[in-house]
Amino acid sequence: MKEKYKHIETKVIHEGYDSKQHMGSLTAPIFQTSTFVFENAEQGERRFAGEEEGYIYSRLGNPTVRVLEERIAMLEGGEAGLAFGSGMAAVSAVLLALTKANDHIICSQGLYGCTFGLLHLMKEKYHITHDFSEMLTEGQIETLIRPETTCIYVETPINPTMKMIDLEMVAKVAKKHHIQVVVDNTFSSPYLQTPLALGCDIVLHSATKYICGHGDVVAGLVVGTQEFISKMARTTQKDIGGIISPFDAWLLLRGLKTLPVRMDRHSYNAEKLFKKLKQHPSVAEVYYPGDTEHPEYNITQKQMKAGGGLISFEIKGDKQAAQKMLNSLQLIKIAVSLGDAETLIQHPATMTHSSVPVDSRLSMGITDQLIRLSVGLENWEDLWEDLNEALNRIRA
Ligand SMILES: *Cc1c(COP(=O)(O)O)cnc(C)c1O
Repeated sequence: MKEKYKHIETKVIHEGYDSKQHMGSLTAPIFQTSTFVFENAEQGERRFAGEEEGYIYSRLGNPTVRVLEERIAMLEGGEAGLAFGSGMAAVSAVLLALTKANDHIICSQGLYGCTFGLLHLMKEKYHITHDFSEMLTEGQIETLIRPETTCIYVETPINPTMKMIDLEMVAKVAKKHHIQVVVDNTFSSPYLQTPLALGCDIVLHSATKYICGHGDVVAGLVVGTQEFISKMARTTQKDIGGIISPFDAWLLLRGLKTLPVRMDRHSYNAEKLFKKLKQHPSVAEVYYPGDTEHPEYNITQKQMKAGGGLISFEIKGDKQAAQKMLNSLQLIKIAVSLGDAETLIQHPATMTHSSVPVDSRLSMGITDQLIRLSVGLENWEDLWEDLNEALNRIRA
């Protein structure tokens, strides 16, 4: 597969699709079919033997899904892509493809709650152990590497604390030890950050978030080398079965077309709001990757096009005050998930990270006062009015 277009704004609309192959249809048709008819028995034999290109059964490949897979591969600058029925189906398929019993994983200090849950499941069932690392220096990572370490798993910006990790540095250490680096790029999308260009090996997404952008699909995407993607397609995707439906793939193709426009607006709104939040007397701390005072702002500058649409902040007060603040909002919706047109707010300690044991949660920096805001596409002044009033209600 070769990319046709240079710039991401064009790629999100055109890569991976040729209308000439589909009776001139401007948009990719939805192939809502479970199976594909062979012309004769011998063709069926050739397809199964891999001697002839072509579709067999939708769990093994579907034309609508294929357009999406080629497009995301082009956007991340990888050789091939694979689509899944959820972000967690993608995370689990990747981690199971990279490990066997008794292997070891190094992860960023702070992970999506269910990824944390999956790592525990893998430890319990297959003795695949893991260590967390702040990944501030090469040395910090290197001291954790063992002969059975097969993978470094990184989120940056980290959910929900917005700490940053230098992906180029992580990739350099990993390369030295022949370890694969997996990056969960959900928070940035390929518009803001492309980990493969920095030397990482595999990128994955909860496409539910910015890739979809409209809050109407749960899906996952993975990009890597042709070899790795083909291996997953034959094993941890085909045989575990977490595939995406053709209709959901079509919705993602539709959402992707506006990704650059949306990300610019998300970032613009978030830039306005984090500055306002920092000045509010009810707010103790604000964490935003685009803040020039963020301790790792140099990493943001190095590897992200803009700060993105997510802000976390700590209020002055306890859990009850955080809940009161959320309950006082009129426009902003209390909901988990992120990356939608609607601005969403949530309380990680009691929602997305409630299953993480308290000591682990606190060591990740997720306090009872921490609130995560996914800034939407509304007018930022309307959003600030809502936030400001809710914050005023909890002023001591
Ligand atoms: C939402 C999310 C996931 C899980 O994705 P689903 O689509 O909900 O299964 C993984 N990683 C991050 C960073 C997420 O925000």
